[in-house]
Amino acid sequence: MTRPVRLAISGASGRMGLALLNLVRDDERFELVRAVVSAQSARLGKAAYNDVSALRFTGWEDTAGIDVVIDFSGPEGLGAALDVCEATGAALVTGTTGLDAAMEERLSHAAERIAILRAANFSLGVAVLTRLLREAAAALPGWDIDIVEAHHNRKEDAPSGTALALGHAAAAGRGACLDDLAVYAREGRPGAREAGTIGFAVVRGGDIVGEHQALIMGQGERIELGHRATDRSIFARGALEAAAWMAGRAPGTWTIEDVIAAKV
Ligand code: NAD
Repeated sequence: MTRPVRLAISGASGRMGLALLNLVRDDERFELVRAVVSAQSARLGKAAYNDVSALRFTGWEDTAGIDVVIDFSGPEGLGAALDVCEATGAALVTGTTGLDAAMEERLSHAAERIAILRAANFSLGVAVLTRLLREAAAALPGWDIDIVEAHHNRKEDAPSGTALALGHAAAAGRGACLDDLAVYAREGRPGAREAGTIGFAVVRGGDIVGEHQALIMGQGERIELGHRATDRSIFARGALEAAAWMAGRAPGTWTIEDVIAAKV
């Protein structure tokens, strides 16, 4: 695209939304046309932000001329963003996690008509960690794997979308489905564990941006692979790279790996 990408941000007053707004302001590839928040946040946003900045936080009243929507809101906000993309043909880049099966299916159907990029984690480091874990799981089939994740105390879903994506990658390395190998901590662990299963453990507290550790445990030895995000701008930067790449993209389900592959 020769002109700037006309961008809308859904969930704009949240932690990720604000990180995106900070970056997009100085990024000439984009023209920010909407900063969308929930009706309740719009009222708060009006008081908190609109009075002190030129930026207007709104709902989806006007949807004309949007090329790409970036969504970091919640399941409801994602549904509203998807309505807009389906109605206008805009591409959707979403990092929202904790989706139910109905939303997963809706996204798959919508990708037949519009371009959708989903990533449980937009960081380059996590993309590499995912690849390393897939390889380790494949090389060490009988070893137990646990994904331990830690996030701030406001996070709603657990295990995190990234932890589940890592679990899926480990299972894929073993040519299996995560559902067949997973033992979820929240369902209670059996006393003895079947060899080669994949478990999850969750830590919530303070302002932790996001930490993921994969323990790959054999007899008498173990491997530890980990990633620690200390600044959520890494996710925002990845989402903007994805948005620039998605403008005008053909319908389908795209991944952050597609964006990385196109750049190297
Ligand atoms: P947050 O709670 O700080 O922000 C969410 C924002 O969405 C809030 O401002 C809220 O007002 C807004 N919102 C809620 N309902 C809405 C609606 N109907 N329409 C428009 N806006 C609405 O949360 P956060 O930490 O910014 O995270 C948002 C989502 O992104 C979560 O699902 C989180 O797990 C995910 N996340 C993903 C990544 C990644 O790299 N993929 C990174 C961080 C967070």
